[in-house]
Amino acid sequence: MKKTLSLLCILALCAGCSGSRVKFEPYVIENLEPKPEFWKVRPDEIISVCRDVRVGRSEIIARTPGGYPVYAVFYGDFSEPAPQTNWSAGNSSSAKSAYLGQTDHKPTILLYAGVHGSECEPVAALCNMIRLLETGRDFRGVEDPEFAELCGHYRLIIVPCVNMDGRSITPDHLRAQPYEVFRGCSQGWWKDGSLVGWRASKEWFPLPLDKVKFPGGYTNADGYNIQHDAAPGNTRTEEAKAIYRLAERWRVDFALNCHSCEGGAFIIRPSNISTDWNLERGTQLADMVNAAFRESGLNPRAPITQKPNETINLTTTLPLCCGGLSLTLECCHCCYNEDGHINLLSFERMMEPPFVAMKLIMRDGLDRPLANR
Ligand SMILES: [Zn+2]
Repeated sequence: MKKTLSLLCILALCAGCSGSRVKFEPYVIENLEPKPEFWKVRPDEIISVCRDVRVGRSEIIARTPGGYPVYAVFYGDFSEPAPQTNWSAGNSSSAKSAYLGQTDHKPTILLYAGVHGSECEPVAALCNMIRLLETGRDFRGVEDPEFAELCGHYRLIIVPCVNMDGRSITPDHLRAQPYEVFRGCSQGWWKDGSLVGWRASKEWFPLPLDKVKFPGGYTNADGYNIQHDAAPGNTRTEEAKAIYRLAERWRVDFALNCHSCEGGAFIIRPSNISTDWNLERGTQLADMVNAAFRESGLNPRAPITQKPNETINLTTTLPLCCGGLSLTLECCHCCYNEDGHINLLSFERMMEPPFVAMKLIMRDGLDRPLANR
């Protein structure tokens, strides 16, 4: 009897622990330029930044299948009770206040990065934002009073790295790396050495980890691309669930999902699965930020007057939880190509897009609400 019981326990444990998971060693780039000290992108550094929070409050919102904590850091008054209804029901009721509450708290912004773990530029930026809000200076010792002042008009939730598993196996940065390395570190290599590829990686959910030599930092340790974990009723990852929960619980007005791409920085046009108001406001904000990226040299070709797309992902489904506006920012991995000339950005400049975007959006939000509910 005793033997049977212990056997059952072992079986149950295996069922609950993804026993078929394949573990991967971090991808090492020979002679990679050492990262600067202020570039906090390693899991232990991200955890340390969040644990050291004293002015704000940090909280573990999820555990990854690889065993890492996902932290959210809160700035502002988050003391109000939970909504008495959800956004879906509240939005269909005659009293939206049943979801929105009666409190007069400041508008709430959710800023998150590292949904794709290899895309570490905004992770570095968000860790520096937390440091700024904690001490008045970022990890370089640089002050940014404008950013700090604007943040004071909002409640801010910062999740510096959603996909800690992907972050843990990908390099500190991909600056000046050839396309093959960038693409492999992002979406991985099959066992025959061929690249999985950006669009092709989305033919799998999860990515079959037993078929790859290296999975890249796109997915978590179970092979799921959290950005596309966006099917109502069948959300697979604790990481995506945690982001949806934050949006719903705190009635997020505006969310920015920060990624990186192989080109210059830009905000992706909103998806037409959202409301007319979100489409109009989202397009206006995206155009405004993209114009600033053009002027500042972060991307002379940043798109303006884009038409909405039809993408379904974590960003575009987030408004279903809270009715707020939700956009994706693409930062720059290291360089952009302008008329055949490669512009290699410094580590400092690679951290700039989330700061530029957030300052403009928070400033604009003082004149016109970011959400219309
Ligand atoms: Zn991405």
